[in-house]
Amino acid sequence: MSFALRPTRSLYAHLTTSNFVQCRTIKKEHTLKSGGWERVIPAFRSVCGEDGVSLGEAVREQHGRDESVHRCRPPDVVVWPRSVEEVSALAKICHHHHLPIIPFGTGTGLEGGVGALKGGVCFSLRNMDRVLDLHQEDFDVSVEPGVTRKGLNSYLRDTGLWFPVDPGADASLCGMAATSASGTNAVRYGTMRENVLNLEVVLADGSIIHTTWLYTSLVTLPGLKQKTSAGYNLTNLFVGSEGTLGVITKTTLRLYGVPEAMVSAVCTFPSVQAAVDSTVQVLQTGVPIARIEFLDDVMIDACNRFNLLSYPVAPTLFLEFHGTEKSLEEQVTVTEEITQANGGSDFSWARDAETRGRLWKARHDAWYAALALRPGCKAYSTDVCVPLSRLPQIIVETKEDLMLNRLTGPIAGHVGDGNFHCIMVMDPNDQDEVIRVHEFTERLARRALALDGTCTGEHGVGLGKRALLREEMGPLAIEVMQGLKTTLDPKNLMNPGKVL
Ligand SMILES: Cc1cc2nc3c(=O)[nH]c(=O)nc-3n(C[C@H](O)[C@H](O)[C@H](O)COP(=O)(O)OP(=O)(O)OC[C@H]3O[C@@H](n4cnc5c(N)ncnc54)[C@H](O)[C@@H]3O)c2cc1C
Repeated sequence: MSFALRPTRSLYAHLTTSNFVQCRTIKKEHTLKSGGWERVIPAFRSVCGEDGVSLGEAVREQHGRDESVHRCRPPDVVVWPRSVEEVSALAKICHHHHLPIIPFGTGTGLEGGVGALKGGVCFSLRNMDRVLDLHQEDFDVSVEPGVTRKGLNSYLRDTGLWFPVDPGADASLCGMAATSASGTNAVRYGTMRENVLNLEVVLADGSIIHTTWLYTSLVTLPGLKQKTSAGYNLTNLFVGSEGTLGVITKTTLRLYGVPEAMVSAVCTFPSVQAAVDSTVQVLQTGVPIARIEFLDDVMIDACNRFNLLSYPVAPTLFLEFHGTEKSLEEQVTVTEEITQANGGSDFSWARDAETRGRLWKARHDAWYAALALRPGCKAYSTDVCVPLSRLPQIIVETKEDLMLNRLTGPIAGHVGDGNFHCIMVMDPNDQDEVIRVHEFTERLARRALALDGTCTGEHGVGLGKRALLREEMGPLAIEVMQGLKTTLDPKNLMNPGKVL
């Protein structure tokens, strides 16, 4: 039994009105011939129990979509393995019957990564939710795929350690590894690429590999080496592979000491250019700033309304400093000098944990605040990233483009990384607006590529950016990626139709 790939869809085809169709209107696609499921379902049940398999329509629909505008593509069946051995056994059954495998973390992705384009089997990993090995003195921890970033940080609460990578949603840590996620702390602590030390992966044929040598032993060895020159970097081959190369069943993560002191501040600017220039200068002077987030006037207005805040409606930076009391003083003085030289306002401070929490909640709620600007509308987040020196130019041009084309697209950006998002709020029933959004997002991505940037800084390629990936990487690099995919997954069973 085999399944054929559909022809490549046109650029931004995912944004057409038909993609907003409800799940129940989508024709059910079966991957197995009639009668095939009768043999396969009992085999799945013998691996993960009666409760570990569902064919229910509501369950399949829930697992066929993420938080993006991509329409729901339900799998034929959802399974909930409880261990790596069960993932491996299920994968072997799928391999034998040529069934696509779609890993599912928490479904917070923004690029349609969990949709079952060809039907198949969704591996929902939420029942594998143990924190396995915490090595406090080595600053690392291993977790199963059902553990989320907030879950891990509450587990670590009394240890003096924390894991800083923080996408806005409470995503699973293995899903974050799969999409190479980052967030507001990346400017200081890096993205998942810098913080994943080792992965356990079940390949399409059910075999289990570890991407660095240490954890090939079943015995937990204390003292994970965080430094290696041994062979190809398999860890970073799987980080960002979006479920297309294997199912990540365990990740070992780098931890950090909770800083002695933290302080957050908000500062408004007379122009976008002044805010972004300040960011560039702060980083150029070597201030080890922990967070530096840009919100344009439209975004700050939306955040004010959504979170009942009263920040001035102007280009704004949210900043956070981590360190000792003494080093904070120095960091803050240098940063204030820079922002004031660029016409920034006095800092409005958030010193205690509760006020800081409120400030960053407002930033993390940006997606929902943008949606609330136009009730009943859908949101699509752009995700370009450019070298820092090109950031003022691209943000200024993007704002002009939004105005010219009468589009609602509040901007929030991890500007310290050169990464920013326009959260495009649009009426899916207004075909003219949908087309204007297509054209805008296309122009924005190409503008980033022309400035030596990328079409995705953190959300991944998923379903909608495959054509842009080709433009960005060129045919030879894509051929190499395709070769790797074919080697690891010759039957093209792992999350088919994504990335490549
Ligand atoms: C409000 C909001 C704010 C967000 N902010 C950010 C942000 O600041 N930065 C950022 O990077 N992202 C952000 N995101 C996007 C999202 O949270 C991340 O992409 C996250 O990493 C997805 O994790 P997940 O567990 O939900 O993955 P899912 O959505 O379940 O899956 C995403 C992809 O990863 C694959 N996958 C999931 N688990 C595994 C696994 N164990 N093994 C192999 N493949 C797997 C899936 O097949 C799919 O292709 C935001 C999303 C929302 C809704």
